[in-house]
Amino acid sequence: MIIILMGAPGAGKGTQADFLVRSKGFKKIATGDILRRQIELGSAIGKQIEDIVNKGHLVSDDILLEVLRVSLREEAGKSIVLDGFPRTLGQAQWLSKQSDVAGVIHIDAEGEELVRRIEGRLICGTCHAVYHLREKPPRKEGICDRCASQLIVRKDDSRNKISVRLDTYENETAPVLNFYKELGKYFRVDGNRSTEQVSREIEALLGQLNFVTV
Ligand code: ADP
Repeated sequence: MIIILMGAPGAGKGTQADFLVRSKGFKKIATGDILRRQIELGSAIGKQIEDIVNKGHLVSDDILLEVLRVSLREEAGKSIVLDGFPRTLGQAQWLSKQSDVAGVIHIDAEGEELVRRIEGRLICGTCHAVYHLREKPPRKEGICDRCASQLIVRKDDSRNKISVRLDTYENETAPVLNFYKELGKYFRVDGNRSTEQVSREIEALLGQLNFVTV
């Protein structure tokens, strides 16, 4: 069974997906992490998508569907939280043919808050843990608390790329929310609140959905 976390860049999808992994035993499939890993590895796909991802544009559905096909196969039969997929109507339609989507949780945060969170974000190049210079600094500057690797700033987290990504979200991804509204699978949480408050809301929602992890 699958839960989808949706929301604009900076809304906190990755952070809340990690919460569901830690507290509820979900398996996380985060397409952004998978794509960045391919770029780091310098694989054929990585070379093809590097420029697109770093500029803040969407990678083609063909590539994403292949990435998802592999990941869903690896995690078959488990409770999965999707972070960063689907991002287009085509991806959502494809997914509905593959798997049973239990619900879509929209982490809804305001534009200014999104920019504030993305500027100052640091990620671990190895385990993908997320930090923030002011809100959630690592214990040791530039080093991941979890795995002691070097922290990096994502190339698409610069101010001009953020606005491209927010526009892409409005144009391509926001319509996907309607797709799930029409299916009766859409749930909204207020993403402007603290990380802990958003986690509590998501937890309550999963309780209401009677969602049992396997
Ligand atoms: P954020 O949600 O903060 O923008 P992600 O890590 O989810 O970041 O994604 C980073 C980038 O990876 C996107 O801007 C896009 O280039 C690419 N990407 C990730 N998921 C998808 C997807 N489902 N479809 C197309 N491109 C994607």
